[in-house]
Amino acid sequence: MSTNRRVKRSKDRFKSAWSKVADRLGRRILVYLPDTESECPNCYYDKVNRTSSGVPKVSPGNPNYFTTGRCPVCHGKGVLTIVRRRCLYGIVIWDPAGDRMNSYTFTEAGFEGATRVEIKTDPCNLDVIKQAKYFVVDGVVCKLGSPPIIRGLGDKHVLKALLFTTDKPKLNSGEIV
Ligand SMILES: [Zn+2]
Repeated sequence: MSTNRRVKRSKDRFKSAWSKVADRLGRRILVYLPDTESECPNCYYDKVNRTSSGVPKVSPGNPNYFTTGRCPVCHGKGVLTIVRRRCLYGIVIWDPAGDRMNSYTFTEAGFEGATRVEIKTDPCNLDVIKQAKYFVVDGVVCKLGSPPIIRGLGDKHVLKALLFTTDKPKLNSGEIV
């Protein structure tokens, strides 16, 4: 068998193995990105004092119109905070075995008592993961422990990221492999 055919077969095997595993074990991973702020649509923003000017943009008759006190939409802040959240699907491994950690530059310093979580997902999620403020995996808030790495064959790569949490994961959340 030629090298090319061998590589192709190996790629195909990998591809099918990965998609089977992802279908079977793929779990929801919530990624919280840095909040963004947008100017309140209901009142004028006071750029000097960085607050609501207290002057409505809407006309009398609009349910959000106000004459005295705080804007009912932004509560006097002048801006609305938008929580940005993405949902990824991937494999979640709580407390991955020690030898798997060889591929990471993870340092234990500062993470004493932390529980590690390995996630494997599609490399197209790289930017989202790098920007993440924090993650919620199985209901537990986690942070990125080391830069994500991409591993795989050909164009079928897998993104691996190591997260950590100081919260205790639920007892039944261990991965079944
Ligand atoms: Zn407002």
